[in-house]
Amino acid sequence: MKNLGDKSGSRAIKPDLFISDLHLCASRPHITSAFLHFLKHTVANANALYMLGDLFDYWAGDDDVDDITHQSIIDAFSSLANSGVKLYFMHGNRDFLISSKFCTAANITLLQDPCLITLYGKSVLLSHGDGLCTDDFAYQDFRLLVRDLKWQTDFLSLPLETRKNQIETIRARSENEKSHKSAEIMDVSQDAVSHLLKKYHYPDLLIHGHTHRPNQHSIQLDGHNMIRWVLGDWYEQGSYLSCDEQGCKSNAIKTNAA
Ligand code: MN
Repeated sequence: MKNLGDKSGSRAIKPDLFISDLHLCASRPHITSAFLHFLKHTVANANALYMLGDLFDYWAGDDDVDDITHQSIIDAFSSLANSGVKLYFMHGNRDFLISSKFCTAANITLLQDPCLITLYGKSVLLSHGDGLCTDDFAYQDFRLLVRDLKWQTDFLSLPLETRKNQIETIRARSENEKSHKSAEIMDVSQDAVSHLLKKYHYPDLLIHGHTHRPNQHSIQLDGHNMIRWVLGDWYEQGSYLSCDEQGCKSNAIKTNAA
């Protein structure tokens, strides 16, 4: 048995944290409070926070940064970043209109989806996850439309209130359509996951959200062993994945419903 020696000289390892699908909005203020508490008491002691999409329930455009809830979050991000915590954000299907004004104000780095990072010598692929739901043809068509630059430019040229109203209409329609879709269609496609893992040369980990089905899946593909972590949403409780040299662990956060 190897003696690993005296640990007294070792410094506490600051973990990297991963979250998604908070869907922050004015109608669920207790989730915003829980998130601000999480930033102050947990993220403050982390190396980095990776936000993998759907941080906000919707984002009508960066001219909405003055909203009081948005402002409190931006201030919290900015002070964390100033204290040395690295903050990363990736678009989800709800907040894909977040742009440079928000990122600059919040001191956040915008990541492309997907994005490959290295963590403690392991390759880690990050994604929101909606692009993997390829069995949902109607959604993928919608995704192509709204991710188009011309569509976004036209949409952003509308007054803020008009945009908010249009988003509400789209959401109501989407909720109605979802009630008719099977659970399988709304989950990631295994073929799409395999294709992505191959394309990125079999990363050790894939971390994504979107499906609101938190889990840890072992994947064997072409002789490679990988893990797919699915992040949880912030509805009944908050949750985050914490990774350090020892590995990754999912954690729950109690939220006090109003
Ligand atoms: Mn999503």
